[in-house]
Amino acid sequence: MDSGLSDPLPPHVVFYPFPIQSHVNTTMSLAELLCLAGFRITFVISEHGHSRLAQYTDTLRRLSASYREEFVFKVVPDGLDPDAPRSDDNLWKIYDNYQKDAGSLFRELNGASPVTCIIADGLMTFSIDVAEELGIPLIVFRLIGPQCFWTYFNVPQMIETGDLPIKGEEDMEAFIRCSDLPSFCRVADPLDPFLQYIIAETLQTKRAQALVFNTFDQLDRTVLEHVRKHFPNVYTVGPLHKHLKLRLAQVSGAQSQVQFNSFWQVDRSCIAWLNKQPPRSVIYVSFGSLTRMTREQLMGFWHGLVNSGQRFLWVIRPDLVAGHEQGSEPIELRKATEERGYMVGWAPQEEVLEHSAVGAFLTHSGWNSTLESLVAGVPMLCWPYYADQQLNSRVVSEAWKAGLDMKDICDREVMQKMVNDLMVDRKEEFLSSTGKISKAAKDAVTEGGSSWESLDCLIEDIKAMRACSYRCLQ
Ligand code: UDP
Repeated sequence: MDSGLSDPLPPHVVFYPFPIQSHVNTTMSLAELLCLAGFRITFVISEHGHSRLAQYTDTLRRLSASYREEFVFKVVPDGLDPDAPRSDDNLWKIYDNYQKDAGSLFRELNGASPVTCIIADGLMTFSIDVAEELGIPLIVFRLIGPQCFWTYFNVPQMIETGDLPIKGEEDMEAFIRCSDLPSFCRVADPLDPFLQYIIAETLQTKRAQALVFNTFDQLDRTVLEHVRKHFPNVYTVGPLHKHLKLRLAQVSGAQSQVQFNSFWQVDRSCIAWLNKQPPRSVIYVSFGSLTRMTREQLMGFWHGLVNSGQRFLWVIRPDLVAGHEQGSEPIELRKATEERGYMVGWAPQEEVLEHSAVGAFLTHSGWNSTLESLVAGVPMLCWPYYADQQLNSRVVSEAWKAGLDMKDICDREVMQKMVNDLMVDRKEEFLSSTGKISKAAKDAVTEGGSSWESLDCLIEDIKAMRACSYRCLQ
């Protein structure tokens, strides 16, 4: 209905991601999608993240050239020394620091230019208190899959019925086994602070205006039905990395040049190496931005890969393995790596997965890596590390039939067999499943697809918030 009032300003949306690599990158895709729709964006980013983007990407220059004042960063401290690792227990320190400063931050942003809505990371629902105090609508963006969100939502009930804490392997026959529950459930004490934090964050989401997931309806249909019974406003707008590229291409009429918003130096030499490999012959190995492993685990993977006889491209982040000295590994491993392997510190992962030489992905089952692999139609060998990854790997293998789950095992023989199952013996079967999911994912983010329409709804609903707040000001 036309209110008769002309609204001179576009909606102003503040994005508030938890400042780690994967959350910042994915949230920036959503932010840019809203900027493309004509919104003004303020993107809160840590000094650390901002300086990494400036150092390793052209993101800041590209956004400023494309959107000028319509996409601005609000750079804030995260409370850590510049060189401190942004992982493990330090993440709590960042959380505390963000929580401490949230009130003054949002008051300042709202004072400078009235905020239509905040889109906050689902790990930081303390921002709901601030938003309520300031009368600003808040939407939660969860960067995990809906299966994991739904599991977290049901944890209190599982504690009540005595299913948690986990006692043993009593439910080995069930679809979701004890070992598939998110790692935070692997505690002896139901009052464990981290488990309680996860429960609280999930339940707090009910106070938000809406919930956004980086997924698409066809992938997670059943669980989304459950979630929607408790959260009426759910937007499914993913896979966002693909969605952004397609919308940008629609606007500019050309293939989009948008790159990953990397916190590390991307080593593109691996693309030249991939160009020389036969089709579907390489297993790409990467454990994301936060996983750490022991030297024994590294050696287990390495022997398994080498013994599989397959070619491999392996991302070994400088901080992946504690106490490993480069050059200290057995000579036969180094020799085999020179023959049919390649290693980099950080890869252009989306491009690697889309490369025709890549036939499989050994992954830690982070949600973004999982989606990127599905979009590229690449089967996965899953070695989940923590958090949602234990559940993601089970869903990949059992629900989507898109790979194999190595859960909790880092044995060279198991690994060797699974690599060959995936790349040789059952290759066609897995390629067929991932091919179908890839097509469904691309359809979802094409005009008229479910994620495209869901994003349009989100855009319209935020515009309605703007119109409403504007009317209130008259
Ligand atoms: N990634 C990358 N290059 C690498 C390794 C990872 O660009 O060498 C990106 C990957 O494409 C994904 C993100 O880092 O978007 C990792 O996110 P995910 O949710 O999978 O795991 P997390 O890092 O949060 O554990």
